[in-house]
Amino acid sequence: MEKSIAKINQLLIDHFGIPPKAKKLPDPLDTIIGTILSQNTNDQNSYKAYKNLKENFKNWGEVALLKAAQIEKYIRVAGLGKQKSKAIYELLQSLKKKQKRLSLNYIKANSDEQIIEELTLYNGVGVKTASCVLLFSLGRNICPVDTHVHRTLNRIGLVKTVNPEKTFYAILHHIPEGIAHSFHTNLIKLGRQICKPSNPQCALCPLKKICNYEQKNLTNIKESKKRDFMLLDNL
Ligand code: SF4
Repeated sequence: MEKSIAKINQLLIDHFGIPPKAKKLPDPLDTIIGTILSQNTNDQNSYKAYKNLKENFKNWGEVALLKAAQIEKYIRVAGLGKQKSKAIYELLQSLKKKQKRLSLNYIKANSDEQIIEELTLYNGVGVKTASCVLLFSLGRNICPVDTHVHRTLNRIGLVKTVNPEKTFYAILHHIPEGIAHSFHTNLIKLGRQICKPSNPQCALCPLKKICNYEQKNLTNIKESKKRDFMLLDNL
């Protein structure tokens, strides 16, 4: 599996380039709250909600003084307001009980598995959110699996799994060192732009030669549009 992952990663880099990394790793608490807000919404709305909290409060300690219903007012734009504000509220309250200054830095010395186990104890934090903290804030070689990563890897034939969590664990120990960030980020790009849930644009896909998807759609969009126009001209 390692060789296949390395090959997929290289083909994606040849097509999309190497995704830029943040110069400084973001704080784990920032990442976990940002990822909770990003569940089931688009990047724009989750960022607006995150900015609302960051701009209205000096630090997470101030947010921890609010009730869940008050947090909800600031994050409503990200959808699932009740659920997400409850998750953020409970996370901050649990951290407050553990320490004076709110922080997730205590997890830094632990192994990947221990961190996943610890973070998923918090309400509203699943394996995907925990793995985002590992990759983006702790720089670990871990590939978070969302619906795009899950769908594309199954279509390619790298895994045969029934949900993102199963895909995550199927590839967890097989990612060659140092490539998880580009592998994860470019697979999401592929899933959003080319390997869409319906009507994937296989003719444009950098992975078409190695992909095993039986229902590959190899019609080139431009060509099919050209054909449609020609048919219209002949009417
Ligand atoms: S060839 Fe098609 S199905 Fe396979 S990864 Fe590319 S877009 Fe998805």
